[in-house]
Amino acid sequence: MFSSARILSLLSAAALVYSHPVDHDHAERGSLLSTFGIKDWAQPEGHPVAKLFARQATGAFNAANYPDGNPDPTAMPDAWKQALSQAVAAGDIPNVVQTKDGVYPSSVDPNSAEICASAYQCRYEEGDLPDIWDAPDGMLGVSFDDGPTPASPKLYDFLKSQNQKVTHFFIGSNIRDNPDIFMQAFNNGNDMAVHTYTHRWMTSLTNEEAMAELGWTMQIIYDMTGGRVPRYWRPPYGDSDNRIRAIARLFGLQQVDWNQDTDDWEMANGKLTLAEVEASLHKFITGPKSPGLIILEHELYPETVEAFVNAYPLMKSSGWDVRNIPDLFGAPYYQNAQDNTGAVTQSTILASDGGALPATGGNNSSSSAVSSASHAASSTATAAATKTSPNAAAGTSGTSTSQKNTDNTNAASSLVAGPVGIVAAAIGAFVGALVL
Ligand SMILES: [Zn+2]
Repeated sequence: MFSSARILSLLSAAALVYSHPVDHDHAERGSLLSTFGIKDWAQPEGHPVAKLFARQATGAFNAANYPDGNPDPTAMPDAWKQALSQAVAAGDIPNVVQTKDGVYPSSVDPNSAEICASAYQCRYEEGDLPDIWDAPDGMLGVSFDDGPTPASPKLYDFLKSQNQKVTHFFIGSNIRDNPDIFMQAFNNGNDMAVHTYTHRWMTSLTNEEAMAELGWTMQIIYDMTGGRVPRYWRPPYGDSDNRIRAIARLFGLQQVDWNQDTDDWEMANGKLTLAEVEASLHKFITGPKSPGLIILEHELYPETVEAFVNAYPLMKSSGWDVRNIPDLFGAPYYQNAQDNTGAVTQSTILASDGGALPATGGNNSSSSAVSSASHAASSTATAAATKTSPNAAAGTSGTSTSQKNTDNTNAASSLVAGPVGIVAAAIGAFVGALVL
């Protein structure tokens, strides 16, 4: 692993290369990435993607270029402000009420088609960027949230030894604080994805704040990977709805949830033991293979890493096809690149369609998507997503509760733009614990 000082030194040297006007003859050009043994990038500056993600400091990493703490929405790049304001003006950002730490006013139904709150198990299934909750049959999708952290390198060494690719849903501010650890994950060929900049409840934020949370995480990943535009994001606490999805769509991001949760982070507060977390993993791994598994796991602590490492042999011996998120679907890792070593090409996705979200909403947990009868995950999925997790990286204690939907049938809908006199279908029963 490189030390931070070493990296900064190398980056400074690389910056000199980028001080010249960008040309398109990038193949032989030395660069920050080639310094790390990675092939070069190519991001035409006139392309919409390049416009939205103006490169910072000509490719050199400098922590000062990124927010220290919660991003100030008034200070985000003009291109992001304009993309958002245009989308709002076009009616592409649903006027869904903001929550208080993921909790909606009692007058609205989080499972209505207009809101479709994922923390309440509503799966948005419309259009070209539906939520991803399940892996294909027989496949086990491996991803880790909340990195990069000091606990991460041990995980990365193990994954490399097993030639196992995973998806990392990274916290932008953690990348800023641990750039060398980020580069280790990237150099190992893993998929770099978004978990927001400071891990807040996204539905509680203004449009501008949500835009900045996603944008800055996209920006730092973009800058450090030679212009690669992440394809996937995972909402902290699973907290997203149609308003947030529409904002994520401005960056071309597809939302990834999960269908099983070990609550591995609870080991840090002593509420769960390693044996208990491993028991959960064993249960999931030895369970039905339809639909496939996407298990929520974290690279937060040595214990969460150990739980995965100990369970990995069972994943393989149980016949699972273990893959990262894009490989589950045969998708490129990035919107404009196949993976971490190939050329970076133009993206046709990011903001190019104006961010319009298909009109109809998703399905709640009683719908066909989840009720696929025999799968054990269906019955446990609610429990999985109704927990909340600690917010170690963001420095808060994660005390909020989360919700359990107790009525999927009704949907006296209509919420958007304020209480239209809906009596929500029992939003009810807050089931303690917390999530991720
Ligand atoms: Zn998280």
